[in-house]
Amino acid sequence: MEEFKTIIEPFKIKMVEPIKVSTSDERLSYLQQAHYNPFLLKSDEVMIDFLTDSGTSAMSANQWAGIMVGDESYAGARSWNHMRETVETLSGHGYVLPTHQGRAGERILYGFLGGKGKVFISNTHFDTTRANIEFSGAEAIDIVIEEGKNPREFHPFKGNMDVVKLEALIQEKGAENIGAVILTVTNNSGGGQPVSMENTRQVSAICKKYGVHLFLDCCRVAENAYFIKHREPGFENHTYYEIAQEMFRLTDGSVMSAKKDALVNMGGFITLKDEALANECKNLLIITEGFATYGGLSGRDMEALAIGLKEVFEPDYLHYRIRSTAFLGERLRDMGVPLMWPIGGHAVYIDAKELYDHIPVQEYPGQALVCELYKKGGIRTVEIGSVMFGKYDNEGKLIPAPMELVRLAIPRRVYTQSHIEFVIEVFEKIMQDKASAKGLKIVEEPLFLRHFTSKFEQL
Ligand SMILES: *Cc1c(COP(=O)(O)O)cnc(C)c1O
Repeated sequence: MEEFKTIIEPFKIKMVEPIKVSTSDERLSYLQQAHYNPFLLKSDEVMIDFLTDSGTSAMSANQWAGIMVGDESYAGARSWNHMRETVETLSGHGYVLPTHQGRAGERILYGFLGGKGKVFISNTHFDTTRANIEFSGAEAIDIVIEEGKNPREFHPFKGNMDVVKLEALIQEKGAENIGAVILTVTNNSGGGQPVSMENTRQVSAICKKYGVHLFLDCCRVAENAYFIKHREPGFENHTYYEIAQEMFRLTDGSVMSAKKDALVNMGGFITLKDEALANECKNLLIITEGFATYGGLSGRDMEALAIGLKEVFEPDYLHYRIRSTAFLGERLRDMGVPLMWPIGGHAVYIDAKELYDHIPVQEYPGQALVCELYKKGGIRTVEIGSVMFGKYDNEGKLIPAPMELVRLAIPRRVYTQSHIEFVIEVFEKIMQDKASAKGLKIVEEPLFLRHFTSKFEQL
């Protein structure tokens, strides 16, 4: 495959789902009804849905076959055993707890380890991770390396954690107050950027030295493995699967949203090495999620998850996945669209602060781009900037996020090359009409995860 310029989708299409083609007038009225927040749009109003790569994968014929043989027994189902074995072999961790998605695992594990006075340290906490930690009363601190904060600077592993800061923070806060260190691979909120094995080893050594838990937020561990194989010396001859296994083995446990690299629409799990901690989590799981052999999942979900978690490591799939995401990014970059560089695994991140440098951060340039992409091409994306991470000071003034990004998250195995060409064409229009884009103000917002439900008005 590597010798060709054109990346073909390494699959044929057996079943199709229609896309409703809308006019720009229709889209404007849909957007107004959705209060300029694309999370509030109906999916039928969207042509290309780049809102998220979460739970939006197309399953394979094999996974659908697995759905039919899923065992729906309450306890000890065959499908659970299939899932447990698959996760155990990958992670090397002795305890696996099924959850209905990633955040359920986060609430259980970080809720238990968290609470007032506790501190969690990550390269970058994903929004649900941060919300669960803060909801427990604990503090969440991000310490990605400096290069990871600079959208233009090339670094092969911009998701790496700053190990000097890590050690200093553990000493400052006291090891006994650290809830956990969480390595997010790839670093979703930091641009889908990978974490190197070397960095994982260093973080692991520091955590061991101080007796602090290290967990892997392993949603995109296969995509991360692709980058390690192709960018980190010493891994050229390892399989993607072996690389992922090695990474898991450097940690004490993991939380996974299977809606990403397990290629399913719903599911997740926690893995742990420590029996006592696993038992505490199991009790919490049974109270709110379900019995320990299904945790809120149907047998068929667990069957599809087990199959997907193996398929995702197939070299043709991963090559197509990472290269096709990069293709979109490279074309946009050639056109002069400012974006996060290099291109990450699951998404292209546009630097809206630079693209719309006439819109101040208080007027949310990222949200403005999100609205323009929808109006011009029916493309749904998400702001990862001050709408998602902004806070207010005591006077109610916005403390902006460090970056104003817009994420084009690519669902797995869903869109074809011509869809991508269409998106590139929409960006040509975005570039032509750059100066006419307008900022927004928030007119209604909730306390947590405000990007999901906030309402906006155009300024
Ligand atoms: C999606 C995601 C989560 C949360 O998982 P859900 O399945 O959406 O609850 C946590 N961490 C990262 C890095 C994610 O991408």
